[in-house]
Amino acid sequence: MFGKIVSGEIPVEILAETDRVIAFPDMNPQAPVHILVIPKSTAYDNVAELAAAEPDTLAEIVSVAQQLAAEHANGEFRLIFNSGATVGQTVFHVHAHVLAGDLEERSLVGS
Ligand code: AMP
Repeated sequence: MFGKIVSGEIPVEILAETDRVIAFPDMNPQAPVHILVIPKSTAYDNVAELAAAEPDTLAEIVSVAQQLAAEHANGEFRLIFNSGATVGQTVFHVHAHVLAGDLEERSLVGS
């Protein structure tokens, strides 16, 4: 489904874009700042697969997350990759949840 976001079929507000990754707001935010950063490639279901095949793309996701946290909050952020249905992954196109802002008592993201 995130492939349709990458192709433009599902329109989203693009918050950051490089050759390999794009970032857009989570439609069901769990924090004052809740942004998803995904590789454009649809080849990887989860972060372990991405890390094994394209470590540079994973590093780019972390770098973009840092930039977004600086732009939209105070530069501090929580980065979450749900990996597997039993821990809450619902979309099997690897994505980083970037959570920032005042998280207070909020627990880890889950949808
Ligand atoms: P996960 O549970 O880790 O697989 O996270 C999937 C996330 O994608 C959830 O937080 C959803 O709110 C979010 N999501 C699903 N579809 C869209 C969409 N079209 N635009 C923005 N966020 C989405």
